[in-house]
Amino acid sequence: MKKDNSRKIYGVIGFPAKHSLSPLMHNAAFHALKINAEYKIFEKTPEELAVFLNSLTQEGIAGLNVTVPYKEKVISFLTKLSREAKLIGAVNTIKVSGAKLEGFNTDAEGILAHLKKELKFNPKNKKIALIGAGGAAKAVCVALAKEKPKSITLYDIDRIKAESLLCQLKENFAKIDFNLADTIEGLAISSADLLINATPIGMKEEDPLLVPEGLLQRNLLVYDLVYNPDKTKLLQAAERIGAKFTNGLGMLLYQGAASFKIWTAKKAPLKIMRDALEEGVKKL
Ligand code: NAP
Repeated sequence: MKKDNSRKIYGVIGFPAKHSLSPLMHNAAFHALKINAEYKIFEKTPEELAVFLNSLTQEGIAGLNVTVPYKEKVISFLTKLSREAKLIGAVNTIKVSGAKLEGFNTDAEGILAHLKKELKFNPKNKKIALIGAGGAAKAVCVALAKEKPKSITLYDIDRIKAESLLCQLKENFAKIDFNLADTIEGLAISSADLLINATPIGMKEEDPLLVPEGLLQRNLLVYDLVYNPDKTKLLQAAERIGAKFTNGLGMLLYQGAASFKIWTAKKAPLKIMRDALEEGVKKL
């Protein structure tokens, strides 16, 4: 069969990556906008990473999403970094233009668009409690810090990671009140407006409830970045006590829409992408 050289290839690189829902939403968007492109999964081991990233142009790959565990590792292969990706220290989107590889981070834009446009939650002057200090937490903190919240309090079981994130945030957002909690109890959830889970806890059935139910209160918005299962134990507890809650599917959608725009310069067809994600999540 003759190769279609005008067909653009996009994809997600990660390890593991085979359960990613991104191909569903991007392929649905390409189809809807009649863009001659395909989005694939590139599951690459750490040993395969360098060869793969050095051959993107040659392989005709026009853009990538980057997922666990490569969001930081890819940076050394890039020619240029967006301001936001630099500030966050992680990349989830790469645009390939000739031999140039440009890195972006759309996770930050993803959570903010979901919070503001859909959930009508404005972080300005709000008290935020956040669990986790990994790649996703970094993007979430930068996104929220730009919106001038009253405070952000962080907790991670790895105190060194939490301290390092806190230090980086204080350097870049001097006016925001950042705090470090030693325990979940230290997050002051009773007076917080927004509680975010940016850890993978809740994905596995055997995972414990991350926050004791007694610490939750009705005025909270509980945001779990996990979207599979669609209602983690944390979200079930939030529902029981009458708090507002959401999983991370909205963040996934909006980060994908922002990546789509970077690659194609076209506005993403949100409804089509959302429908594809919702169908996909049912099959996980
Ligand atoms: P990560 O880099 O592994 O970071 C997770 C952090 O949480 C680590 O520092 C980890 O510490 C810490 N942690 C683990 N268990 C904890 C606990 N019980 N209490 C406090 N801290 C704990 O992962 P990530 O890339 O940031 O992703 C986090 C989650 O967000 C994943 O489930 C990912 O799928 C999800 N995510 C969703 C979206 C979306 O669009 N919805 C986007 C990005 C990420 P240790 O390293 O010591 O375990």
